[in-house]
Amino acid sequence: MKENENKSIGRTLKFCFKEIWQNRKYYIPLSFVNTLVGAAIPFADIIFLPLLINALLAPEKNLGLIIFYAAFMTVIRDVLNCLNNSLNVQLEKSADFFLNLEAQEVGKRCMEIDFAMTEDKKMLDRIKKARNGVNYSGGSHEIVKGFFTVLSNVFKLFGVVTVMIVNAPLMLLITGVLLLVSAVLNAKKNGIDIQSFSELSGIDRIFGHICWQMEDFRYGKDIRLYSAADMMIEKSTQQINRLSDYYTTINRKKFPLDTADNAAGAVRDFGTYLYLGVLAITGKISIGTFSQLISAGGTLYSSVQAIIMGAQDIVKRGRYMNEVIAFMDCPPSMEKGERRVIDGKHEIEFRNVSFSYPNTTVQVLKNVSIRLKSGEKLSVVGLNGAGKTTFIKLLCRLYDVTGGEILLDGVNIKDYDYDEYMKLFSVVFQDYRLLAFSAADNILLGDGAEASAADPFLEQAGVIKKIKSLPKGSETMMFKQFDKEGVELSGGEQQKLAIARALYKNAPVVILDEPTAALDPVAEYEIYRQFDGLVAGKTAVYISHRLSSCKFCDHIAVFSEGTVKEYGTHDSLVHKKDGIYAEMFAAQAQYYQ
Ligand code: ADP
Repeated sequence: MKENENKSIGRTLKFCFKEIWQNRKYYIPLSFVNTLVGAAIPFADIIFLPLLINALLAPEKNLGLIIFYAAFMTVIRDVLNCLNNSLNVQLEKSADFFLNLEAQEVGKRCMEIDFAMTEDKKMLDRIKKARNGVNYSGGSHEIVKGFFTVLSNVFKLFGVVTVMIVNAPLMLLITGVLLLVSAVLNAKKNGIDIQSFSELSGIDRIFGHICWQMEDFRYGKDIRLYSAADMMIEKSTQQINRLSDYYTTINRKKFPLDTADNAAGAVRDFGTYLYLGVLAITGKISIGTFSQLISAGGTLYSSVQAIIMGAQDIVKRGRYMNEVIAFMDCPPSMEKGERRVIDGKHEIEFRNVSFSYPNTTVQVLKNVSIRLKSGEKLSVVGLNGAGKTTFIKLLCRLYDVTGGEILLDGVNIKDYDYDEYMKLFSVVFQDYRLLAFSAADNILLGDGAEASAADPFLEQAGVIKKIKSLPKGSETMMFKQFDKEGVELSGGEQQKLAIARALYKNAPVVILDEPTAALDPVAEYEIYRQFDGLVAGKTAVYISHRLSSCKFCDHIAVFSEGTVKEYGTHDSLVHKKDGIYAEMFAAQAQYYQ
């Protein structure tokens, strides 16, 4: 085994033992006791069976002794077996717990990784590998269980090797050589499995994603109206075929190795019987010892096999688990400073900011400079693709600028503590998502407040009446994934909930990206009318296609092809000759007149 591999197995075992120790203290001592019990089981037969046979074959039979050997052997074996079984049952109770715990840890890490990484194909593959890694490894429980199984078999091995060295040393050689052959063959088979893991994870991710789109009814309308079902089936079938071709190739590669392994087993059995038969016929060993050695041979074979396979299994599972550990350890790519964000008024400045999305070369923002004073309301307008949402994403540090800098109170935002910086913003993104929990949970987000604490914000967002009319009020579940009584709110109602969530956060900077896109004209009018009240003197950035809403803002920044083409008040821009804003405003105004 290579040095790196040793290191990584050491790291995996350390991770698994630590995970188990931190969560179920009793597990490791109990496993050790079980190891000793399991190791002792075959020795009831190995020790007492030859005594019993010799007593049976003795010219003068001692019935008492025969009964004693038979009873003692059976009782010891059964007691040990019972103990072993009940300890196993006890330990197995933790299997699901650890599997779920590790799946949860992967999910937790997904929520923590830099947002910019979530669109990176390599990162997506890594996440998929980590998820598969939890399942394929069976979780830390399986790895630690494997370790104790190996240990138990090492103890057994010591016992039977001692018996053989004393009675028939050549038997050790026959069994040893052929077991080595089996080990090499098994290592090759495991190598094939490990090699295919990476490829299989990739195919699996694509297949999973297609299935998810088929199942997620948010896609349902478009799929039906554009008759996309056939295409979805065809694309998923392509992946199914790729998977089954891949498995066929794997099995084809493994078949000769399996056959050779079976042949090695047959040679070993034949050699052992021949050798021991000759020893017994020539009177070198008694019939009792013959049976003892056959039994010891079986135990030696099974324990060596279990050690090798167990060790290989730990290596194999460990490699899968390493994907989990590697994902858990993957370093953040964003610089995160330690500077505290001081409460109070804040000024934000974009200074010559440029930006390209990860793995792209196109600059979607070019040399953008904007200053946003505390309490100021900035409206960001422009055609689709002009870079408005990107501007917001950079402001919220979902991505880092690739050129220039963003300053908060004159200090580069990278210097601030990331979590504290994020607390500055209440954002409603265009593609906001509600969670499949209650309406109140979607607003309070687990901060410990009573569900009723959400009411004033639902009211401000203009959705309280609807929420109160639901069967369980604000404790009604959104969507039907977890609760068949869950509700499907309209797009506008969902958007109002998202606005209520942003208001509840009560951050000093409010950002609304097309906040009224899904609202009806009355609700839209209400939001505009209350806009000042909603943002309550806070700094606000407001992206909207409805230019009439810009009148509420102190300044308007007109984005075009990634740059700020115009900047000023509504009054200064609306009359600008050949101005983009003036033209857009005039175009919209004709529909309102
Ligand atoms: P707007 O909000 O003004 O409609 P965006 O800021 O969303 O525009 O997009 C600006 C440009 O950046 C568009 O050309 C868009 O295709 C591109 N873009 C947006 N998001 C990504 C992304 N995650 N990866 C690569 N390009 C993106």
